[in-house]
Amino acid sequence: MNITYHSTRNDQLSYTASQAILSGIAPDGGLFVPSSIPTLPITLEELSSKTYQEIAFVVMKEFLSDFSDEEIKQSIQVYNEKFDTPAVTPLVKAGDFHYLELFHGPTIAFKDMALSILPQLMTISAKKNNIKEDIVILTATSGDTGKAALVGFSEVPHTKIIVFYPKNGVSEIQEKQMLTQKGNNVHVVSIEGNFDDAQTQVKQLFADEKLKAELEENQLRFSSANSINIGRLIPQIIYYVYSYAQLIKDNTIKAGESINVAVPTGNFGNILAAYYAKEMGIPINKLIVASNENNVLTDFFTSGTYDRNRDFILTSSPSMDILVSSNLERLLYHLSGNDTKLVAGYMNSLSQEGIYKITADMLTKASDFYANFASEKDVKEQIQRINEEAGYIIDPHTAVAAFVANQYKEATDDQTEIVIASTASPYKFPLAVLEAAVANFSNDSLEASLQQLKELTGIPFPNAVDEALHDPILHDTTVKVSEMKEIVKKKLGLQ
Ligand SMILES: *Cc1c(COP(=O)(O)O)cnc(C)c1O
Repeated sequence: MNITYHSTRNDQLSYTASQAILSGIAPDGGLFVPSSIPTLPITLEELSSKTYQEIAFVVMKEFLSDFSDEEIKQSIQVYNEKFDTPAVTPLVKAGDFHYLELFHGPTIAFKDMALSILPQLMTISAKKNNIKEDIVILTATSGDTGKAALVGFSEVPHTKIIVFYPKNGVSEIQEKQMLTQKGNNVHVVSIEGNFDDAQTQVKQLFADEKLKAELEENQLRFSSANSINIGRLIPQIIYYVYSYAQLIKDNTIKAGESINVAVPTGNFGNILAAYYAKEMGIPINKLIVASNENNVLTDFFTSGTYDRNRDFILTSSPSMDILVSSNLERLLYHLSGNDTKLVAGYMNSLSQEGIYKITADMLTKASDFYANFASEKDVKEQIQRINEEAGYIIDPHTAVAAFVANQYKEATDDQTEIVIASTASPYKFPLAVLEAAVANFSNDSLEASLQQLKELTGIPFPNAVDEALHDPILHDTTVKVSEMKEIVKKKLGLQ
């Protein structure tokens, strides 16, 4: 069956996959969802002998119904070229759990899984829809997304990218990663303000009709690479299918046996991909939603009420410091039995009052999910414990998931194998990791800390670390929030 896409808030207009990828968000503000979730066209036994790229092809072909086989295969090449291991996402057993390492891409965080392939999907989509203009990606980042998008789009023909980040709001290594980015089509700009200021202004620029017209005159058009783009969600389904295949292959489970997955969650994209894998036929029993102290999702899955009216807490897992998990809107759509009116009402209530409550029936259907959270102290102890017990070093985001997976096991006595989505290399968060794992750690310099982490993990520096430490700084623009529009025009050569 040919899958099309429509908004979570209205199912009247239907879009092809390529149109949905180019648009990013539906015109009514809703998120694109597939007309149905396809089932896997091959058996679980057959999966177990396939490579990552072969599984990627099987999954993507089901969703990208207006892409040719050739186009899908061409896109998948990035997993050969840009990842540092042929397994792409190795599954590592340490202590009680299987860690699915999603950080072997160019920026050593899981955003690479989707942002390395999105530029290919987007340029193919543009061609398919006879878009003559070059695509301009505008992104505001609090750290991880910016660099992953820069690497993904660098030197991709017919695209340009401008990334804004808060001057004093990202870690030293994250800033270095962005400022050393090469490529004739990439621009990095820091702003005097926080992430929310940058994000709000980027949204305004997208909605600026005058700017849009100026871009058009210059054969340019905006597009968005943010995590609600369906072109980011689909590539994330692949690794859950792959992890199941690996567990069959290494005789941990038999085909058909259930697994549980635990995911460190922020915007709800990664765990939603696991839900899609389950709906496609992968026997996932529990989907474990792990939050940090910003535990709005824990409360939601426990009570059925989503309430964003609470303090925003800065934690050691910054990529999960989120109060509005955008991708949850897609789950609401599925749990409601595809009731777009109901979803539109919830989203309206969220934007007006910051709160909504789902029906009892929906909450019952959500019982495939188990949600809990880790405090900062829990995260630290978890990193330390897994190092002591298994000699395996995990980053703070992954530690949130490992802690919550343990909570689940203790609460239920469920002995099902657990796969933890391991979303960042410890090298991306050296200070938090060393403070947890090393007694009396003192932070002398970034380089010294990274060196100490190397001794602790026994893993050589990934390319990303060498580059951040040694590559020349190539960008040095800082602007006020009020100057963002001017700098966009200047960088694009509009004036
Ligand atoms: C983005 C990110 C997350 C959260 O993923 P969502 O899809 O937003 O839930 C977790 N860990 C790391 C390291 C990330 O970069």
